[in-house]
Amino acid sequence: MLLRRHLCAATLAAFLCAAGLPFAAPTAADAAPGVSRVSDIRAWTNEIYTRVAIDTGEEVSWQADTLRADPARGLPPRIFIDIRGAGIRDEILRKPVEVRNGLLRQVRAGRFDRDTVRVVIDLERECTYRVFALPGPFRIIVDIDGAGEIPVLPASPDAAAPPGPVAAVPPSGDPASHPPAITASVSPTPPSTGPAVPPRKHRVRVMIDPGHGGKDPGAIGPTGLREKDVVLAIGRRIREKLSRSGEFDVRMTRDDDVFIPLEERTAMANKGGVDIFVSLHINASRNRRTEGFSTYVLSRGASNREDLELAARENGVPVGKLQGVKFIIDDMFTGARKNESLRLAKTVNDAVVRHVSVRYPGAQNIGLKQAPFYVLVGARMTAVLVEASFISNAREESRLRDPSCLDGIADGVVEAVRYYGQNGILAHSDY
Ligand SMILES: [Zn+2]
Repeated sequence: MLLRRHLCAATLAAFLCAAGLPFAAPTAADAAPGVSRVSDIRAWTNEIYTRVAIDTGEEVSWQADTLRADPARGLPPRIFIDIRGAGIRDEILRKPVEVRNGLLRQVRAGRFDRDTVRVVIDLERECTYRVFALPGPFRIIVDIDGAGEIPVLPASPDAAAPPGPVAAVPPSGDPASHPPAITASVSPTPPSTGPAVPPRKHRVRVMIDPGHGGKDPGAIGPTGLREKDVVLAIGRRIREKLSRSGEFDVRMTRDDDVFIPLEERTAMANKGGVDIFVSLHINASRNRRTEGFSTYVLSRGASNREDLELAARENGVPVGKLQGVKFIIDDMFTGARKNESLRLAKTVNDAVVRHVSVRYPGAQNIGLKQAPFYVLVGARMTAVLVEASFISNAREESRLRDPSCLDGIADGVVEAVRYYGQNGILAHSDY
């Protein structure tokens, strides 16, 4: 159990730089030097948002901290992540990731000492951020927010207690005991409560996210139907139907049979300033009789073993790993949109079942659910994940081969998104 606590805490490294108290992630004693390697640094960015992913493959011990601007030495505010017992690919050492967009200057990396790689994020200005790690393969994610949307914890030694700003967030229904959230600010000034809310000027932007793809087929049915193909077909139908009226700006995370990491899908939506994110999946169960439609929103935990197994499968990790990292999902980042997401999820699920039932009476409505899906972590918009029936159920698999069933699912999503967009619900949220 000690190891689990260590690993859990390692993924939760958080600190309050305003207090000058860096939080040191515990050392993972089993991370043998040289085994892990910083193999890539990826970034997605716009002028108010950046996500940086640092790929190490194997689990590493790491800690994050900040440095304030040092005008005398011409240095900007910086976030840095020290990764112990890891090597680094030479090309990364030679070639910083240049950004220069008003939020970030660049991301660079170097060998800090014999067994520490330091990744430094040079900021253009002070901003809030959070750091967490995802397993399978191991990567450290840094979400940087230039609009003050990530709440900042009060700089107090009581940071381990449930943080104050959460009070503004609707109760999640999750177990109360969880480690502290992962937020910090480079700014020594008191945190802003967020920007004034300007009227939304653009068309409602929708990101459709067909799950899986490429090397990842998703779930496979008894006669070989693949989840990745079904959800892409549904996604294209949604885009086509939703685009017709011209009211919606519809995008897709993938329009091909390609693999896209989960953190990249979220980053694409955030970078695009999307209003609504709909991730499309087909469920599967060891029990071949299980059937029905459900739609999920993000939460730290799951209400039952089946939902936990589902989230683990969709996240591409064993359930054990999921247990270890589920606490990274604090509601502070998504909380402002959680009620909106709950509302959209219920609307989507009811509409999908209604439309599918026209041709297939008796389609089961499992309803609105919650589970820790990585693809929803850090999403800055109303975000839901649809599990459109069970591919493991022979009857539902055969339905999913029927274009009219796929149309029904798409019609349900379209109706719900349209209702949601037209009823001004978005106007009350963020834009
Ligand atoms: Zn899936």
